[in-house]
Amino acid sequence: MATPNAHAVVTASGYERWSHCTAAPRYEEGFPERETSVYALEGTLAHSVCELYGRKYFTPMSTRKFNAELKKLKADKLWQDEMVKTAEFYRDFLKEKSNEFGAMPYTSFEVRVDLSDYIPDGFGTCDCVMIGGDTLRITDYKHGKGVPVSSINNGQMRLYALGALKMFAPIYGDTIKRVCTAIVQPRITEDVTEEWLTVDELKAWGEQIKPKAQAAYFGMGTFCAGEWCRFCRGNAQCRARAEYYAGFDKFVGADIQGRMTEAEMIVREQAECMGAPGIPPILSDAEIGELLIEAQGLADWLNDLQEYARDAILEGREIPGWKVVEGRQVRAFKDADKALEIMRGEGYDDAILYDRKPKTLAQLEKLTGKKRFAEIMEGQIEWPPGKPTLVTEDDKRDPYRPTGPHEFAGVADE
Ligand code: SF4
Repeated sequence: MATPNAHAVVTASGYERWSHCTAAPRYEEGFPERETSVYALEGTLAHSVCELYGRKYFTPMSTRKFNAELKKLKADKLWQDEMVKTAEFYRDFLKEKSNEFGAMPYTSFEVRVDLSDYIPDGFGTCDCVMIGGDTLRITDYKHGKGVPVSSINNGQMRLYALGALKMFAPIYGDTIKRVCTAIVQPRITEDVTEEWLTVDELKAWGEQIKPKAQAAYFGMGTFCAGEWCRFCRGNAQCRARAEYYAGFDKFVGADIQGRMTEAEMIVREQAECMGAPGIPPILSDAEIGELLIEAQGLADWLNDLQEYARDAILEGREIPGWKVVEGRQVRAFKDADKALEIMRGEGYDDAILYDRKPKTLAQLEKLTGKKRFAEIMEGQIEWPPGKPTLVTEDDKRDPYRPTGPHEFAGVADE
């Protein structure tokens, strides 16, 4: 879990962004902090529950203290019963891993580590650190259920591991030879990704990212847009991102009010014909493949631009060519109970007034917990084939093998 700190410039949690776009950290300073979303607050609460369950198992804690702490967490308005199940999963994973050490490992939670050997002024917080024999194990809990996060090649996790190595070096010296980083994300999958590296490999990686971290910190970076722009504070207004997606450099010299230069008109007319001489009018499959890769973040970029423009107009600024209107109105009952009573008075009974539909598999599983659900539903669950789905070739799944001539109808994008 990243430690919030208003003064951190180059952060471990932002590694994915600044390792690609070294200009981002200083550029972002010109934009206000984003409001903490309700999802982030839920995540913080879920982390506290995980930590409590972890401490209960690995450190001396009376049941009374545990219950009192849990009661406090349950009083939070964002509390969800599911948090107990995810915390139990996290604790059980740690328990299982601790059993793999020859003797009970040293285990600590919410460990703040110094990353300044690699990132100027850098620091971070490891959710759980375990040390035993020649192994250091770092485990991170993620509560999000939108995007799966892997610990493989995960710069944030590697940085935390480097910080933990430094912190515990005075006690363990050179006895630690191997490092394992793991990410537990039980709301998406029960499979926990792990990356094993030797300490030498990890330190060599750390040396190699130092120049980027320094460039990012000292404002010597270069802009580079890509999917990592998604969480950048200034992403809507970033020119590098606009050029990446819209090729704005083609319009250099054009009148920004919409008039085009003569040269651009000629280019446009040529484009309106069947392509410029020597350029085939039809895109090749190779070009479509490249365009699909380049266009992957296009929808996100458009959403960010729309959100920015809407907020700007609501704040009283002008975005030429755009205005904000009231969205489509949808009729609603002032009092749904009263409305249904009126319908009953008209002779319609509840069997007609209500749709009765079963909860989904996932909702039912949530009621019992995954383990119990697997026991009681043995033989009741099938896996119908998924729709053919377009993904990039680095996706781990095997290529789809059609079984009939019409199998490709209705291909979905992901
Ligand atoms: S939006 Fe993208 S390109 Fe622009 S500064 Fe942020 S990360 Fe860099």
